[in-house]
Amino acid sequence: MVSFSQQTKEELYRTETESPCCVRAEYAGLLLFGANLDRYGEDEAMLQTLNVLDENGKLCYRIATETVREECCRRALVKGAFLSAGTVIDPRKNYNLEIVTPHKELSEDMLRLLQEIGFPFRLVLRKSKYVLYLKNSEAIADFLSYIGAFQAQMEVLNVKIEKEIHNEFNRAANSETANLEKTINAAVEQIQAIMILDKMVGLDNLPDDLREVAYLRLEHKEMSLAELGTLVEPPLSKSGVNHRLKRLMKMALQES
Ligand SMILES: [Zn+2]
Repeated sequence: MVSFSQQTKEELYRTETESPCCVRAEYAGLLLFGANLDRYGEDEAMLQTLNVLDENGKLCYRIATETVREECCRRALVKGAFLSAGTVIDPRKNYNLEIVTPHKELSEDMLRLLQEIGFPFRLVLRKSKYVLYLKNSEAIADFLSYIGAFQAQMEVLNVKIEKEIHNEFNRAANSETANLEKTINAAVEQIQAIMILDKMVGLDNLPDDLREVAYLRLEHKEMSLAELGTLVEPPLSKSGVNHRLKRLMKMALQES
């Protein structure tokens, strides 16, 4: 099973970075965040153009201002960094996107850059690694579209909508269940009261209006008050039925 991270990266590998300035920025992002230097080592001239080497020709783990001066190149550098050191969790499991580096200054440069672009990344030290992370579903979707992973973005948004519908459905189902339980509990109390009255005074000795409702309640234990109301002659509203049942229960309380 391909992870959501892998899927996202495969999508990114398929998107071409066109302008030479952006290609360089993407390479810089890839290298700074851990892609293997050997692959580029043969081409020292190319490395020189990436603004990633110090005066001794060693990789310097900072983001050079020149590299991210252009808007297009910022995007390419961030994409490169994500390809090297990023992960994004399957949105069905959790909302979490990270870019990890062991280099403190690099993580701080990157945090500043990402926040300037407008992403609410946070930085945390975890097991001697600096972790830049996003936990908000919308921010993750925005970030994915920013680096060009549009399918991954859609996936996050779809899952978010699915989750919202699911939650809405659960809420409705729970409140229906709660209502049903209330109805059943109320019916049980009403029936107990009527049985007490029957034993103590006899249902036939009750006033006409109460007797009618008492018999109907006993015959139709499963019915709601509104349904019972339709069987009364002449039909009675839900609150009318409720009122009579309350009177029955009050009488039963006095008799018991
Ligand atoms: Zn560019």
